[in-house]
Parts: sequence; structure tokens; C-alpha cells
Amino acid sequence: MAFLDDVGRAVSNTVDTVSKKTGELVEVQKIRSQISTLEKNIEKNYLHLGKMTYAKFQESGELTEEERAVCEEISSNTETIAQYEDQIASIKGMKRCPNCKAPSPQDTAYCPKCGTKLDD
Ligand SMILES: [Zn+2]
Repeated sequence: MAFLDDVGRAVSNTVDTVSKKTGELVEVQKIRSQISTLEKNIEKNYLHLGKMTYAKFQESGELTEEERAVCEEISSNTETIAQYEDQIASIKGMKRCPNCKAPSPQDTAYCPKCGTKLDD
């Protein structure tokens, strides 16, 4: 019966290996999920750091050349977005308040949101 014992041992080893592998996978999955959480947190902090740097740029402009280049790109993109928003408003027959950017119909004299006098 030595042969059957060997087979039994082989099967039992295989089962052990499989459940060990499953355990490893679950463990690895758990660790990966923790890594993912930390990576998301790092991205959040990069964003936070970037917003703080941009605020510094707007206040004092005292930045390294590289930081300044990134800030200037943000400013330029923000301006372009505002122009696109104006285009959309104009396509819809609206105009946007120069103060608060709220859209209102072309013939509105004062901004319904902040009261700023609007051009025709
Ligand atoms: Zn307004």
C-alpha cells in the first residue's frame, strides 16, 4: 500500500500548496489594497501641495523657475477655460458676469447673482 500512501501524500501536498497559494493571494491582495490607498493619499497630497504652491505664486510669485512654469501653465489654462465658458454662454444666447462668471440672458442689465452692471 506504499503506492497509495504516496498518492495520498502527493494529493495532500497539492491541496496544501493550493490553499497556501490562495492564502498568499489574499494576503497580497490585502497589501495591494493598502498600497493603493496610500498611493491615492500621495496623489491627494501632491494636489494639495500644488494648490498651496499656486496660491503662493498668486500672492508673491516667489517660486523656483520650474514651479513658476507649472503655475503659469495653470493660469493660462484657466484663462482658456474662461474663454471657452464665454463661447458656450454665447452659443446658448447668454453672457457671463465679469465679476462672478454667472451666466444670464443677453438682455440682462445687472447680474442676477451678484448685482454687477452688465455690458450689452
Ligand atoms: Zn455676477
